[in-house]
Amino acid sequence: MTSLDEFANSKLSELERGSLRRTLVATGRTDGIWVERGGRQLLSFSCNDYLGLTQHPALKAAAIAAIERHGMGAGASRLVTGNHPLYEDLEERLARLRGTEAACVFGSGYLVNAGVAQALAGRDDLILIDELAHSSLWTGARLSRAEVHAFHHNDVRHAASLMDLHRSGRRHALIVTEGVFSMDGDRAPLADLSELARKTDAWLMVDDAHDLTFDPHADPGIPLKIGTLSKALGSYGGYVAASRAVIELIRNRARTLIYSTGLPPATVAAAIAALELIGREPEIAAKPLAKARLFTRLAELPDAESAIVPLVLGEAQAALEAQRLLEAEGFLAVAIRPPTVSEGTARLRLAFSASHPDAEIERLAAFVRERILSRADIQLKYSLA
Ligand SMILES: *Cc1c(COP(=O)(O)O)cnc(C)c1O
Repeated sequence: MTSLDEFANSKLSELERGSLRRTLVATGRTDGIWVERGGRQLLSFSCNDYLGLTQHPALKAAAIAAIERHGMGAGASRLVTGNHPLYEDLEERLARLRGTEAACVFGSGYLVNAGVAQALAGRDDLILIDELAHSSLWTGARLSRAEVHAFHHNDVRHAASLMDLHRSGRRHALIVTEGVFSMDGDRAPLADLSELARKTDAWLMVDDAHDLTFDPHADPGIPLKIGTLSKALGSYGGYVAASRAVIELIRNRARTLIYSTGLPPATVAAAIAALELIGREPEIAAKPLAKARLFTRLAELPDAESAIVPLVLGEAQAALEAQRLLEAEGFLAVAIRPPTVSEGTARLRLAFSASHPDAEIERLAAFVRERILSRADIQLKYSLA
């Protein structure tokens, strides 16, 4: 065995011992919510396909037409020849959706977050970031080489005290958070963060990967709005919406945009089709939250704030055990373990979709209430709180 293999094996054993080893499980998705795993059909509460658009005929048709017309791959970076004509249409729609002058589409949401902070901040600058912010936002903060401090989750007073301590002597300051937190489902206090940004001449950057409020008038005080095409929009890719000047600068400086091939035309066409669909039927966007609220009411949990409901179970082992119990009932809720969430807060993260039937939500809620939340060996540390 080479030292490289030895290293890999010892690291894997270490993960195994902590119930933290992960495996890729082949999962067939041919329907918005039902998936096939190991020969079984399971009702999934672990997809971010909030509106069921990944399987929508309008998206499939748009993608097929785009392949016929433009081919499969973009062939180059957007800054060279990969900027096929569908991009302009998509970016104009995204800017309208978010109420900004312009938008820039990247290869994924991860790449947006890895690139934007690096494009806008450097060694002389300060970044304050919510401690629970997504891994991609942390990557961006670190790549920027700015001075980075984490503030306690959703704690604007802590952010303000860090600003007091570190703002002077720094050229620019960036405040980074998520609109809806991906693993907790709670919302950031955006009005207060926006006020802090205004008072301290800082720039607020909000990642709305899980926000389903498609309203251009929402959050007017936010100059940097991040989103993904890969979740509610059912396709793939990410974007930042901002003023024209900021978007131009990002196009010139974000390395994850410049040095990566453009998205396949089919992906862009599908995202356009999704936006058209939501424009025609805006009421669909309210459904996942209504489904999540039905669940929290029936499971006797605090009201859901978004389509995401965490059941925090403590140790990784407890989350895996809860996943197995639900699987036996025909439900898929994949255990979320460290380092995705912090030590001792392993959980089931339930994501609700517009397509989940109410009767199944009722069955899930009854099972969770009676068999998961009540089990003595599964310790419910807190849930949603
Ligand atoms: C999923 C997610 C991303 C990454 O988006 P992709 O398009 O899947 O790469 C970024 N931020 C948050 C908060 C997310 O949940």
